[in-house]
Amino acid sequence: MIDNRSGKGLSFVRRIYVPRIIGMGIGLLSVMAAMAPLHPAPWVWLLMLFNGLVWPHLAYQWAIRSPAPYHAEQRNLLLDSLGGGFWAAAFHFNPLPTVTILSMMTMNNVSAGGKRLLLRGVLAQVVGMLLALALFGPGLQLQATSLQVYACLPMLTLYPVALGWVCYRLAIKLAEHKGRLSALSRTDSLTGLLNHGSWKDLLLLRFQMCQQQRTPAVIALIDIDHFKAINDTFGHVVGDCVLRQLSLEIRHLLRADDLAGRYGGDEFCLILPDTDQHQAGLAMERLRQQVSAYRNPQLPELRISLSIGLSVYHESLKTPEQWLEDADKALYAAKHQGRNQVNFAHREVVPLRLA
Ligand code: GH3
Ligand code: MG
Repeated sequence: MIDNRSGKGLSFVRRIYVPRIIGMGIGLLSVMAAMAPLHPAPWVWLLMLFNGLVWPHLAYQWAIRSPAPYHAEQRNLLLDSLGGGFWAAAFHFNPLPTVTILSMMTMNNVSAGGKRLLLRGVLAQVVGMLLALALFGPGLQLQATSLQVYACLPMLTLYPVALGWVCYRLAIKLAEHKGRLSALSRTDSLTGLLNHGSWKDLLLLRFQMCQQQRTPAVIALIDIDHFKAINDTFGHVVGDCVLRQLSLEIRHLLRADDLAGRYGGDEFCLILPDTDQHQAGLAMERLRQQVSAYRNPQLPELRISLSIGLSVYHESLKTPEQWLEDADKALYAAKHQGRNQVNFAHREVVPLRLA
């Protein structure tokens, strides 16, 4: 069965489950040690055991079965706080267990729901205290026995570690998500190559590098010939396959430092660093030949050809846009000269005039 509640806080519920088991389990020690001298009735002992040992599992089941697990878990956190306030008043505000239990619960509420849950949690603690005052009557016990001190130590040491661990795991997960989202925002979804925007960012970087380090580089614009006719004849699904196949051919051809992107539609763009005109020409001619030799047994009529415009970096280029414009002109000329060919830009270098 498909669970359509995954966006509604199921992971939040699961994240809280183990820390609650730990927190309630070791919190039970503090509560029992503080309650024992008051000789509570059997039902109070049972209530303590229920709150410490059964409630975490009940809370979990209640939340994951709810149609809105996130809200159910917020309610459970408030019930935790209500329980904490209840026990603090029940053992007559014995200072160490009171501070231990209430501060740990408050820390939990802040980490799970920020200021809002902090305030609502404090309110729930007050409601819990009023309930216990109504049931057991008021009282004040300001002396802590050494047993009570030792009973609070597991809570004071283990629970912050458990909560810190959960927050750390969450931070790692968020960082992974951020990395994945950032990669997605730079990728063309159909071909997996760089998208237009990120390729242009890298073009600017490469342009600056060429200017500063005087290293050679070539850019290429590759356009499928009569792609509209391929779409019209074989359908858009085949058109998409052709785009993906071409992106694979490009990937196979490239070296590790080369950067390939989808410029848009049926147009692809390459940055070939540390490459001269001859090497770039050879590589693109190989790509053109490979693609034109491509045959698909299921679509024997399908033919693919490419027009490719190349532009070599030159010192007379003032901006990366000029560099790109040159490649675009070379591509345009390749189309005009009959398509299915590789063509270089011919930049007219304006001679420097001496004053
Ligand atoms: P030319 O030889 O002059 O390049 O002709 P062309 O038909 O390739 O050029 P044109 O720009 O007219 O057509 C490009 C077509 O690419 C038009 C558009 O429908 C199609 N196209 C753009 N993006 C996609 C896509 O993601 N998938 C598919 N299947 N087609 C696309
Ligand atoms: Mg085209």
